[in-house]
Amino acid sequence: MPAKTVYIETVGCQMNVLDSELVIAALKKDGYTLTDSPADADVILFNTCSVRELAEEKTYSAVGRVLQHKRRDPAKVVGVIGCMAQKDQEKVRHRVPLVDMVVGTGQLAKIPELVRVVQETRQPQYALSLGRKDASRHEVEASFESYDPARDPQMRPTPFQAFVRVQIGCDKFCTYCVVPSTRGPEQSRHPDHIVQEVRTLVGQGCKEVTLIGQTVNSYVFDHGDGRRTRLSDLISRMHDVAGLERIKFVTNFPKDMTNDLLDAVRELSKVVKYLHVPVQSGCDDVLKRMKLLYTVGEYREMLHRCRERVPGVAVSSDFIVGFCGETDESFRKTMELVAEAKFKNSFIFKYSERSGTKAAERYPDDVPEETKKRRNNELLAVQNANSLADHRQWIGKSVSVLVEGRSKREQRSHHEADHVPQLTGRTMTDHIAVFDAPERLTGRTVTVDVEDASGFTLYGRVRTEELVGVTGEAELPIQRPRRVSLDLV
Ligand code: SAH
Repeated sequence: MPAKTVYIETVGCQMNVLDSELVIAALKKDGYTLTDSPADADVILFNTCSVRELAEEKTYSAVGRVLQHKRRDPAKVVGVIGCMAQKDQEKVRHRVPLVDMVVGTGQLAKIPELVRVVQETRQPQYALSLGRKDASRHEVEASFESYDPARDPQMRPTPFQAFVRVQIGCDKFCTYCVVPSTRGPEQSRHPDHIVQEVRTLVGQGCKEVTLIGQTVNSYVFDHGDGRRTRLSDLISRMHDVAGLERIKFVTNFPKDMTNDLLDAVRELSKVVKYLHVPVQSGCDDVLKRMKLLYTVGEYREMLHRCRERVPGVAVSSDFIVGFCGETDESFRKTMELVAEAKFKNSFIFKYSERSGTKAAERYPDDVPEETKKRRNNELLAVQNANSLADHRQWIGKSVSVLVEGRSKREQRSHHEADHVPQLTGRTMTDHIAVFDAPERLTGRTVTVDVEDASGFTLYGRVRTEELVGVTGEAELPIQRPRRVSLDLV
């Protein structure tokens, strides 16, 4: 009998990338292999994102396109999983009625079983967690299962880098954001489980872990006997894992950026000196309507503290432009903050009204699309100038780079066999570096002398001593999922 195959498309954040890895790992245990052709797949999954409307619309189009294969071959199982499934079960059933499975973020562990039920009964299957107001906090928490079972190196962007979930859900309830309802109540995982998972990953050849949580620096595990493990304690424990080279964590909430964490980032050599701490807006009135619990002044103070406590740290941010009631004057304040804050980079988004959020209930989405677009471009121009200055300060310095593989440019072009490819990787401050070097350096940490820089990339040369004495290692013939599109990096 030919092997059963699964095809998966993933959009959205790092949580989704990790969820897809885990879902595929579970299906492989059931005898599935991964394919990158939906036409040939027995099971087709869409792991979805609800943060902005555009992401949802793209998913509906993609599902629509794939359903043609199902019309031809009704035995195929098509599933919509993740955030959109949890948020819009009814809408998904209405807009794409041929879909066989709708599975929320807290129910992903059930997928192998649900696939079997669909195949046996031909009845659609739905598995969703409770809504935030449907039951007691404890019951809602219990309905969002933390899903962190066996890991599958094949599903990761590279075998030596992995995401590790330290926290599920979110309790911040920023008024614009769907995450508290799509991912449920905030719950921190037991530190022993996390450290054990990191050990397993290192055993599989992993060198860098990125700890993920919606507000990762709010991580705190209460042991119930008076002891509490904070993120700083957790990374200190992890630091002792032999073979692990780098520890990163995203995304941070400004109000929870405590000194113990900053001290740990400074003192622990494996911790990447990079903090993603989104501010969202430079105007206090807007921050208040977003319910962000800090003022611009407090954010500035936090930024100062980060740079004072962790000399040389790179900081990046997210911004939403055109939020409800954002005036020219509010936007001017955001421009001022970006100009002055000198972020390494910023992710800038146009506000997208999301049903079920407090902002959608309370405030009209009153900034015209044209204005959102213009503000987005203006903010980006200031950020780009700062990113260029930030990157150019590295020219003439040497950086330590964990080599991830061929650069994007290299992947797009074809070359002779003896051609030395352009490789890419990240520095200890999360800057992207590219350089020409043999592919066998992939997965190694090398020293690169930076010779030039754009606003996004450092261009350099690998130290020659790094190039000698490295024996060629056969590249594993690994098939990785092609379709992964990230909103965030
Ligand atoms: N807590 C996580 C996930 C938030 S989504 C984190 O901070 O990474 C990531 C970014 O998307 C947010 O920081 C915000 O800038 C943006 N975002 C969230 N909701 C949005 C909305 N309704 N419209 C536009 N951008 C949004």
